[in-house]
Amino acid sequence: MNVFDYLIQQRMQVQIDQNRHESMRTDQMTVEIEARVRDLEKSTGALWSLLKAKTGWTDEELIEQMKVAEAAHAPDHCPICGRRLLVKNGVSCSWCGRRLDRKSSIVGCDEAATDE
Ligand SMILES: [Zn+2]
Repeated sequence: MNVFDYLIQQRMQVQIDQNRHESMRTDQMTVEIEARVRDLEKSTGALWSLLKAKTGWTDEELIEQMKVAEAAHAPDHCPICGRRLLVKNGVSCSWCGRRLDRKSSIVGCDEAATDE
């Protein structure tokens, strides 16, 4: 092995160690997020049980309301690239980067520049 091979091997080992560390960090974050989701599911279920008992609301009414809320907040599609928008109420398309005007369709680059 010459010195260049040795240096390349060293750099590769550093990258492997960084990737391993990042993977472990991501796994830990996933575990924490899953725990939070479970807690939120429990509290949401408890809240809904309480609301049903106190108000007489039904599961069907909740489902209907969820459909209304979902339709109101569902991401739409970018009028320029046509891809589904990833961020609700985002100021720009995550795919093509064009600035969005939620009331109409798109604000041109010149208008976007004057906003800042
Ligand atoms: Zn786009």
